[in-house]
Amino acid sequence: CGITGYIGTNDAKEILLKGLEKLEYRGYDSAGIAVFNQDGVHIFKEKGRIADMRAVVDGTVTAKVGIGHTRWATHGAPSKGNAHPHQSASGRFTLVHNGVIENESELRVEYLQDVKFNSDTDTEVIVQLVEKFAKDMETEEAFMKTLRLLNGSYAIAMLDTEATDTIFVAKNKSPLLVGVGEDFHVVASDAMAMIEITDQFIELMDKEIVIVKKDQADIYNLQGEVIIREPYHAELDV
Ligand code: GLU
Repeated sequence: CGITGYIGTNDAKEILLKGLEKLEYRGYDSAGIAVFNQDGVHIFKEKGRIADMRAVVDGTVTAKVGIGHTRWATHGAPSKGNAHPHQSASGRFTLVHNGVIENESELRVEYLQDVKFNSDTDTEVIVQLVEKFAKDMETEEAFMKTLRLLNGSYAIAMLDTEATDTIFVAKNKSPLLVGVGEDFHVVASDAMAMIEITDQFIELMDKEIVIVKKDQADIYNLQGEVIIREPYHAELDV
């Protein structure tokens, strides 16, 4: 399983797909990407290999922001419907997740009784909670509030149609890095996925979020306190 993300000036699609191909070694049963452009969010997903998913991506859609995912199913069968990205009820939020949310059934009962779910994944609980909380607060606050409620492991990348210049990122007990470029940022489970376009990476600690923009990446803990951490230089044999 693995995650990729890109926000910058080039076409996100190819960067996301190439990154996912580099993460194939981590194991997967399905894959998907979501990209943002002036027409909204476009999601492409498929069961099977990255190549099978690549085949369903509409080559005419271009976008400079996007997130990608390879799934290793833990909750819900490996299927196109359970493949990530997952969306909130209104379609405002689009999210990919690696890991396991151990208290997903409690969270459904406590907060999401009125929500109609589109998949059998534990992941969908996360995106539905963010949407629910974002009705009364800023997205960053809703994201942190959601993460504070989760028990389990997560690497997350999320898009918000009301913040088209941002990827919301979080990590706890699953690997995730933010890569820094000249006029772009990337997100990846492993530096290997993006080493061809940058060798500067910011390491994330557990229970941290990053607000990632084209030329800025701000780290916070789940209480909203600023964390300062410089990127490191990744040296990989490729
Ligand atoms: N638990 C999530 C699911 O089953 C994510 C699995 C993964 O890490 O790929 O969809």
